[in-house]
Amino acid sequence: MSKNSIDTKVIIVGAGPAGAGISFFLTNYEIPHIVIDKNTFPRDKVCGDACSGKTALVIKRANPDWLAEILEHSEEFLPSWGITFVAPNGKALDIPFSPNRTEETKAPGFTLPRLDFDDFLFRKMASPYCTIYEGATIGNIIHEGNKVSVNMTHDATEYEISAPIIIGADGDKSIVRKQFLSGSTVPKTYAVGLRAYYEGITGMHRENFIELHFLPEMLPGYLWIFPLPGGKANVGVGILSEVIRDKKINLREQMLAAIKNNPQIAPRFANARLTDKIQGWGLPLAMERQPISGNNFMLCGDAASLVDPFSGEGIGNALYSGMLAAMAIKEALPANDFSATFLKKAYDDVLYKRLGDELKISATLQRLCKYPWLFNFVVNKAYKSPSLRNTISCMFTDMDLREQLSKPSFYLKILFNR
Ligand SMILES: Cc1cc2nc3c(=O)[nH]c(=O)nc-3n(C[C@H](O)[C@H](O)[C@H](O)COP(=O)(O)OP(=O)(O)OC[C@H]3O[C@@H](n4cnc5c(N)ncnc54)[C@H](O)[C@@H]3O)c2cc1C
Repeated sequence: MSKNSIDTKVIIVGAGPAGAGISFFLTNYEIPHIVIDKNTFPRDKVCGDACSGKTALVIKRANPDWLAEILEHSEEFLPSWGITFVAPNGKALDIPFSPNRTEETKAPGFTLPRLDFDDFLFRKMASPYCTIYEGATIGNIIHEGNKVSVNMTHDATEYEISAPIIIGADGDKSIVRKQFLSGSTVPKTYAVGLRAYYEGITGMHRENFIELHFLPEMLPGYLWIFPLPGGKANVGVGILSEVIRDKKINLREQMLAAIKNNPQIAPRFANARLTDKIQGWGLPLAMERQPISGNNFMLCGDAASLVDPFSGEGIGNALYSGMLAAMAIKEALPANDFSATFLKKAYDDVLYKRLGDELKISATLQRLCKYPWLFNFVVNKAYKSPSLRNTISCMFTDMDLREQLSKPSFYLKILFNR
């Protein structure tokens, strides 16, 4: 059977948030591209389903009308106004995302099942510059000279798609990463997460605060309860893989035991019902800088290990890295330069300049979470001090303030009430 040969400017493997992010901006720059996904949308993705301000920011930059659409449909995109931290000693601390909010302030975050959110993004990719193949199977990827060719089967037809650049936006088990970056010596840090959908949980915050429960047995991981539209909730746990291995933890048993026995959590689940099977997936954490591009390729989102090591958020960074990758392509095309040197400067350096500090602080905070006493101490103090609560609130938007959290002087100041 003869193959259909197609030449394009950019091949994107994966149509999740990272793939959608790059596609939106390539369309804005009028750059033709092809997106290939092995699944057919709408498709599920194991996740906590919480979208942060960074997600909203990229969507707004791609097209302000799309963010307006999200904000207008609060029954679908449940607005979230803050976080409840529950310390290992059981004390809960409510931290609003927007401490100085006015009537006009919009909720910075929102939650909705990834089945629906990724489908929303997927549908927004449609444009004269974007050709999408969903439900496609990629055979081999050939890198010769300055060209990458992907052999793909779609609807029983074989294609050979060629471009000067390929983007790996194909998630945690990226085949593009495997082919192009298998020689990387930077060690990968993983967390493993479980997700369960429930309905009928009581005691949810009236402004849909997402809840992180730092249970002593799960540190430096946590159990989360995130409210979803329609009175449902996403409940899950995430723990570092090395901790699971070292302590021989059965994550599923541990999560169900907390739901059944924890004195604060169990009563809220008394009449709750599990509505779907419990599923697990990996979170590739951004613990340290690593190469995310090379000759004729770039990696975005989970394929580039960009999950925030403290919060476990990866949707915002996937979209954001997609946006930066599109900007790099816009620079590379007129120069026809897709070399490792060019892409490192136009993509890796820009991404780490913008996100590097935030990721470093989160990596430090994640390490600090190993110490339950430190957590208890901060929460106990913040419980009594409105100004400390306000400072912690501001840390969600102010990176300089968040950096304070990772310094010993912050804890000394609290100790001495300064
Ligand atoms: C348990 C858990 C909870 C989480 N909770 C949150 C949260 O609450 N908030 C948050 O921001 N982040 C959370 N994350 C992280 C978040 O899910 C990821 O960071 C995010 O999905 C990354 O987006 P992506 O586009 O890079 O990859 P994905 O969303 O994984 O998308 C990859 C796409 O590539 C496609 N693909 C894969 N392989 C191939 C192939 N061989 N050929 C063609 N297509 C392919 C897939 O079908 C998929 O559509 C969580 C993760 C886990 C595991």
